[in-house]
Amino acid sequence: MSSAATELSSSCRRCGACCRNGGPALHAEDRPLVEEGAIPLRDLFTVRRGEWVREPGRPGLVRLSGEIVKVKGTGGGWTCRLYVPGERACGIYDRRPRECRLLDCRDPAPLRRAFRRGRLTRADLLAGAPHFRDLVADHERRCNLEAAWGLLQAGDARSARRLEEMARYDAELRGLLVSRGGLDPGLLDFLFGRPVAMVVRLFRRRLSGGPAAAGEDAGMEGVP
Ligand code: SF4
Repeated sequence: MSSAATELSSSCRRCGACCRNGGPALHAEDRPLVEEGAIPLRDLFTVRRGEWVREPGRPGLVRLSGEIVKVKGTGGGWTCRLYVPGERACGIYDRRPRECRLLDCRDPAPLRRAFRRGRLTRADLLAGAPHFRDLVADHERRCNLEAAWGLLQAGDARSARRLEEMARYDAELRGLLVSRGGLDPGLLDFLFGRPVAMVVRLFRRRLSGGPAAAGEDAGMEGVP
């Protein structure tokens, strides 16, 4: 641990407030946590390129130019899935992810600086599972959210049909993998992010100038 991180951890009061505001995004140095099972894949979800998110220390929402793999919330809320409420403690405190070690309530600058650097991707975590890695890449091509945003903006009938096809493909793929492929449904959020139909609803709200929804904050809506 760096001296800066050591200093931060020793001054943290471990009140749990940060853990109740959402799980961390993962970075390259967090990879062993997943590979060694400290953070199971089913506890992760992916916010895909093209989605609108809120980033630490930045006002408003920004569109993601690359994906983020994050720890899910629990019980339909924001509290990090790895938080143990009874003990008011992180279940993996000694090995907590990089963002959690950098986060300082009184000084968001270190986290803000690190947030965009060296993010883990699904391809990194699926390097040993080429079938799933290829499946994810194919889904990303067919259900590209930057393309979906463009189709919504176009607003014509042909674009609407293409969006419907994209959402249908996404839903059918998920259903088939679970019903016929025996895939754990808890892995779908990590493999494919939120359902396309849900993201399109959020995009529509954004285009119509509606208020930002909780789901637009780094993708909590619909994540079990
Ligand atoms: S991983 Fe641990 S320290 Fe980080 S937000 Fe979750 S519970 Fe808190």
